Amino acid sequence: GHLLSHLALRGKELLHRGLCGLLGCGQALARQVCEGLAIGTSLLAYLINSLVNVCLIGTQNLFTLVAALWDSVAGPFLRVTDLLAAFLAHVSSGAIAVSILLWSPCQLAFELLASAAELFINIFFVNIYGLVLLLLIIVVSAFVFNPGLLWTLTGYVLGYFNTLPSYHRLQRDVWRLYQVAVLTLGMAMTSQAWRRLVDWSLQVTNWSQGGGTTNRESTRPALSRSAVAGQRLQPSREEPSTSWGKALRRQQLNAAAGDGEGTPDNDPWVLLKEQEERKKCVICQDQTKTVLLLPCRHLCLCQECTEVLLQQAIYQRNCPLCRQMILQTLNVYL
Ligand SMILES: [Zn+2]
Ligand SMILES: [Zn+2]
Repeated sequence: GHLLSHLALRGKELLHRGLCGLLGCGQALARQVCEGLAIGTSLLAYLINSLVNVCLIGTQNLFTLVAALWDSVAGPFLRVTDLLAAFLAHVSSGAIAVSILLWSPCQLAFELLASAAELFINIFFVNIYGLVLLLLIIVVSAFVFNPGLLWTLTGYVLGYFNTLPSYHRLQRDVWRLYQVAVLTLGMAMTSQAWRRLVDWSLQVTNWSQGGGTTNRESTRPALSRSAVAGQRLQPSREEPSTSWGKALRRQQLNAAAGDGEGTPDNDPWVLLKEQEERKKCVICQDQTKTVLLLPCRHLCLCQECTEVLLQQAIYQRNCPLCRQMILQTLNVYL
């Protein structure tokens, strides 16, 4: 631009000089004015040109700077996004592959489980024996793995039964059945055949010990006398037989009568009072003795005291004289 403008200016100057040489020196003043004007215009053009050039160069520099800045800013960002996209693609493909890889064994396991459940149902739930077997297995395994459960369950069931009124009735019935069984056993023990058997065994024993009938006859009164001296006859269970008991009682009564006659205090009033006292119940000392206790055959209680005694527990139902267990009672009337 500078060179062109200089060349143009030089050309113009040469043209002016040529014109000056041709025209002569007549118009020198006008020519100088024209030269000054031309210099001024060329200076102005140069200034404008340089200004335009500066503006263009600045704009170009600005654009290149902006482009460089954009590159420097957007390049890493784009690179990061590219990297991220690639990474996501890899991850998603890997996840898909892993899920496929994992799903196939899971599917196999599910199928196996389903077939096992079907088999289980076919075995255990279709017929009643399988169901019972399954329940048995469950109960046994529960009790094996948790032994305390059995006791808690038993306690719970017992508590539940205790709340039922029918359970109490059942308990009472069982208790009565037990009492009836005990009484039946006692009656069998005190029955005639049993007594005969015991009598026979005692006779055999006495015969083998004493060696004859005469010895037994001689020992029996001695036994009765010792019993009378003790004021109470306390036969054991094996001892009493029907004939022996009657004989002993008769001898005891005779001996008592003999003793009563022998005593100096034989006032009839006192005797009557003693007789009345002997008829009284040994517990309440008020009512008359009317109940015979079996198997000890003591006549010592009234009806009310017997009922009170029979309401006790079975191990407390003992004769007040000999402490033998009462298995049966008989009402007697004098
Ligand atoms: Zn009484
Ligand atoms: Zn008794």
